[in-house]
Amino acid sequence: MAMNKPFHLLTLIFILVLIIPISHSQKDLPDTQTPSPFSFIKDLQGCHKGNRSTKGLHNLKHYLHQFGYLNYRDQTHLDDDDFDNALESALKTYQKNYHVSPTGTLDASTVEKMTSPRCGVADIVEGINTMAPKNHHHRPGKSIHNVANFSFFPNRARWPPSKTHLTYRFHPNTPRGIIAPVNSAFQKWASATFFTFSHVGSNMQSDLAIGFFSRNHGDNAPFDGRGGTIAHAFAPTNGRFHYDADENWVIGAVQGGTDLETVAIHEIGHLLGLGHSRVPAAIMFPTIGPGQTKDLHQDDINGIRALYGR
Ligand code: ZN
Ligand code: ZN
Repeated sequence: MAMNKPFHLLTLIFILVLIIPISHSQKDLPDTQTPSPFSFIKDLQGCHKGNRSTKGLHNLKHYLHQFGYLNYRDQTHLDDDDFDNALESALKTYQKNYHVSPTGTLDASTVEKMTSPRCGVADIVEGINTMAPKNHHHRPGKSIHNVANFSFFPNRARWPPSKTHLTYRFHPNTPRGIIAPVNSAFQKWASATFFTFSHVGSNMQSDLAIGFFSRNHGDNAPFDGRGGTIAHAFAPTNGRFHYDADENWVIGAVQGGTDLETVAIHEIGHLLGLGHSRVPAAIMFPTIGPGQTKDLHQDDINGIRALYGR
């Protein structure tokens, strides 16, 4: 009888050794185990002005450069690892835009914001901070909730005022599953504005074009794999809207997934001429939380109405 116990234990270990590798190979690894292209920021937490030769700090500089926050006259500073005045100033602007205390130090709350998946469109475009607090016009009867925080692209790029009907097509490689959520996103904008939209065939001429792309895809704005930047779109009247094909795209609020429709509503905002908004609840806020879905916000609707003067 005394022999039975070790025998059972060995059998159990043997069975587990057989099962564990199989179950791992059959399932995709959980999302949390895929390192985000932004995860390097976590390793830099706590860095601040005066730090010299901090390993990997140039990646933070490139991040802030990519989204419009950091520009040097001497570009070589983008590639060094010294935390200089320009980096501190860029970080403070970032912190103000994302409602974090502007300490100029890469603290935990800033790391949390910076590592969130986000739109690839910059927050500061041609020197204009689209997310800066706007001057509040005090009009009698207007509540604080009507304060405008939407923004436009430089020179108020927009569609000609007479062009209120826009056609869109999908690139031929587009997975079928994205057509319905994108159609629905266009409907959201149509029901809140004077714009109308119609879906045309992939081989037709159209005002707008939507596609799925991975890494470099020929527009000088390469995607970066799972996490990091998830989509981008161009200002009027360019018309291009690209999803990053490497994301875990889902329909609705699914943990570990990114909602196709929420991102489409955001990118269509860019196609129509909106820049980023500093209002976290607005669709034009640049980041998306895990499993988050969003809809048009009054700030977004006010933005389109202001841009087109109606
Ligand atoms: Zn955006
Ligand atoms: Zn692109």
